[in-house]
Amino acid sequence: PPAETPQVVVDAHGLPYLNAELPVKQRVKDLLSRMSTAEKAGQMTQAERGAVSAPGDIAAYDLGSLLSGGGSTPTPNTAEAWAAMIDAFQLRTRTTRFQIPLIYGVDAVHGHNNLVGATVMPHNIGLGATRDPGLARRTGAVTAAEVRATGVPWDFAPCLCVTRDERWGRSYEAFGEDPALVESMETVIQGLQGARDGSDLKDDDKVLATAKHFVGDGGTTYGSSTTGTYTIDQGVTEVTRRQLEAVHLAPYQEAVDRGVGTVMPSYSSLDVVGDGLGPVKMHARADMINGVLKDRMGFDGFVISDWNAIDQLPGDYASHVRTAVNAGVDMMMVPYSYKEFSSALIAEVKAGGVGQRRLDDAVARILTQKFRLGLFEQPYADTTGASRIGSAAHRDVAREAVAASQVLLKNDGGLLPLKKTQKVYVAGSNADDIGNQSGGWTVTWQGASGDITPGTTILEGLRKSGGAITWSKDASAPLTGHDVGVVVVGETPYAEGVGDVGNGNDLELSPADRAAVDKVCAAMKCAVLVVSGRPQLIGDRLGEIDALVASWLPGTEGDGVADVLYGREAFTGQLPVTWPRSEAQLPINVGDTAYDPQYPYGWGLTTLTKVPQGGAVTLKALRLAAAAAERTGSDTAGRALVTKARLIVQQKAGAALTARVAKPFADADHLLLTGRYGAAVEKLTEAYRAA
Ligand code: BGC
Repeated sequence: PPAETPQVVVDAHGLPYLNAELPVKQRVKDLLSRMSTAEKAGQMTQAERGAVSAPGDIAAYDLGSLLSGGGSTPTPNTAEAWAAMIDAFQLRTRTTRFQIPLIYGVDAVHGHNNLVGATVMPHNIGLGATRDPGLARRTGAVTAAEVRATGVPWDFAPCLCVTRDERWGRSYEAFGEDPALVESMETVIQGLQGARDGSDLKDDDKVLATAKHFVGDGGTTYGSSTTGTYTIDQGVTEVTRRQLEAVHLAPYQEAVDRGVGTVMPSYSSLDVVGDGLGPVKMHARADMINGVLKDRMGFDGFVISDWNAIDQLPGDYASHVRTAVNAGVDMMMVPYSYKEFSSALIAEVKAGGVGQRRLDDAVARILTQKFRLGLFEQPYADTTGASRIGSAAHRDVAREAVAASQVLLKNDGGLLPLKKTQKVYVAGSNADDIGNQSGGWTVTWQGASGDITPGTTILEGLRKSGGAITWSKDASAPLTGHDVGVVVVGETPYAEGVGDVGNGNDLELSPADRAAVDKVCAAMKCAVLVVSGRPQLIGDRLGEIDALVASWLPGTEGDGVADVLYGREAFTGQLPVTWPRSEAQLPINVGDTAYDPQYPYGWGLTTLTKVPQGGAVTLKALRLAAAAAERTGSDTAGRALVTKARLIVQQKAGAALTARVAKPFADADHLLLTGRYGAAVEKLTEAYRAA
């Protein structure tokens, strides 16, 4: 604890709720029975740490939580500064009647991304490409260890959005477009929280997770919104009841079953076709939060609102508060208006707009997680694990995830992997830029280009690999005398808001990147790496490019990209989203009836195994074996069989991908993820015949 001696107003010691030997339920009941309405309202209030200019407000308003939000004031740059900041806030709670500790939250959406020097993981879209739940879990464990070591016990991650239109700027926060894929990656929740029953949350390397944004955030319609502005971030998700269940809700049942501690509603509105309600903001949807999430799915954690989201509800402030609390939101992220919120809530309780039972239920849910986290026993930062932040062991996990996330879309003449004997010409805007390869939500909310945090750029990774490298960002250095060109193109960082008209919704390469590709690919055999949060339109250029790689937003470990480029690791990544031919095709997703993309969902060539020969005969044998594996529930065997079948199809199809190949190919990957191995190989057989 900090040196300053806390002034304890009431010595609460000896009361049952402070007895760590008692069951959590009993401790919650005891504490709740002693609290005033104002103290309860305080627990339901979360303020932005920079907004608490008078630190005395923490005690005066009995604040339950603070956050460093994406849109927050600059965050500390060292682990020690984080711990000291949080301890100083926590100390303020020592002067309150019951010394209820604060729960501090951050957006660590790909590693402890607010902290300079932390291990930055690939964004979720890259994790989806790995198709490796065990690896996703290990990345979550690294994130949790780094976050908790700075005194933060709560992470607003993972995003369970199922992204259905890549013009949405938050697409990279999604594991992919297929709910089955999103579900399979939810192992990350165990990486963050540990055991499903919450019994590991006290550990110094675990944090409480948040499934967000409930529900349908990835399904907003392009160009449609109640307010009349064209947006797909925070827009309207218009779906049938069936689509809602199968596409957007399914991942939440999985998260609840995994014991996720908190859920954040979405800024978006939900418009369920035929229910007669029209578009309604998710923070007002009692049918979904109380009805579906809590009652039907059995979610027993607490619901945290999104940043200022209640301000978007119709009516006056009192009705914002009443509507959201009664819809089932337990804690309100009211970064700058914490005073207004708590007094409005107290008034609503007095006036009967919010019932005592609802109030107690919300507070009980919040206290339960605080007890589980061990915050009453250890409110201060335990920095024992701080030496692990950005450690070699942690960076190795990230590097492994980066290598596994690389998707080889095209590889004419087996250009990749590179050989050390080749002279390689490297160009392009994203070859040597840690900021660009990390994307948004890195050090700052929107992220930034340049040297923003320690790490290895893709170029540095290539250079370390031992071959001869010429580097010329704009391809102005002489091109002759090289064997292979590697052009690294893509996006610059962004976070929320993208997708709105006039705000960067196009998936075209920049003119500078196009020029670099044209120059290098005209002069030599070339591989193009796309470093971006979503597919980029390659269009006619595909013909000039020999090898194409989707690198996503790999984060700080560029070595992982070099690992697959130089063949130290095999390419095994598969597309987590459909790669469109043109913007006119959007939205385009696996399962669509008309489906003619550039590359289908699940596509990804591999340099892993020798491709099995034999075509149809082999496929028939594989199908029978896969069906048997499905019947006996042998997942490892089933997956291996489908993988083999996929290799056969990819080899035959080569670059000539027609709709008749693409559709069954994509469907097969979805079937694989739902454990239907026999049917998956049947689909692959169909793709093989069409190829
Ligand atoms: C985002 C959330 C995030 C929150 C706090 C919001 O704008 O939508 O994903 O957790 O800010 O930073």
